[in-house]
Amino acid sequence: MKIGQRIYNSVFPPLFEPSIKEKRLLRYMYPTINWEYVRYYNGLPWFMQNSFAIGTALPNAYDRRTVHVYFRDYHSMSPQQRIQVLVHEAFHIQQYQDLHSMSEKTSGWGFNRRFMRYYLGWYYQGLIQAIKAPNRRWSNIGYSAYQQHPMEQSAYTHERNFCSLLPQYQAHMIRVFIEGYPHLVCQYTGDESCSSPSLLAHILGTVTAVMISIIKPMVDMLLVVVALLLGGHRKG
Ligand SMILES: [Zn+2]
Repeated sequence: MKIGQRIYNSVFPPLFEPSIKEKRLLRYMYPTINWEYVRYYNGLPWFMQNSFAIGTALPNAYDRRTVHVYFRDYHSMSPQQRIQVLVHEAFHIQQYQDLHSMSEKTSGWGFNRRFMRYYLGWYYQGLIQAIKAPNRRWSNIGYSAYQQHPMEQSAYTHERNFCSLLPQYQAHMIRVFIEGYPHLVCQYTGDESCSSPSLLAHILGTVTAVMISIIKPMVDMLLVVVALLLGGHRKG
């Protein structure tokens, strides 16, 4: 792919739709999510391309209602990896909804939504704890903060519960599968998963969310101009 297109896709990756079977499973597992506000993109945004993420759920920086699920490369993944990432990211979408950070009820704009303020806040809290730990390893504190993150821990628990039943999912019709394992149905992500971090961490998370809401559109605009000059254009 040409460099101009690569830059363009790092700002606005192409839209895609998961398979009908994948979307059906998500609708059964998360019956209260309003999917009208969810879009799927193949490609990570520029600021996540050097991370270890293979998927992520982020707010749309240009409205207050929609959430975007990004895959690093959906088409190169196995069906098992795809559904695993979708189940995990859909748990975060449920958290967005439970924290009133999606649909018409959102207070805030762009990245400045309660989900992001809490998510970044918990990340800061994990960083502070990792720095204070007696046996800290500086190279590892970012990953350690991620591992301790309560919003991630609950998402990974739900993902693991699903993965342990993957053979049954593959062997049965989705309705029969879900009826057999009702604990996979999530209507609310729980008070622990959606609780507020400490005051200091919450303030740091809020300041960061506000800064991203202002800075990201400016960097996006700059990158799109460069991409267009280098021959990139909208696809998909
Ligand atoms: Zn996650």
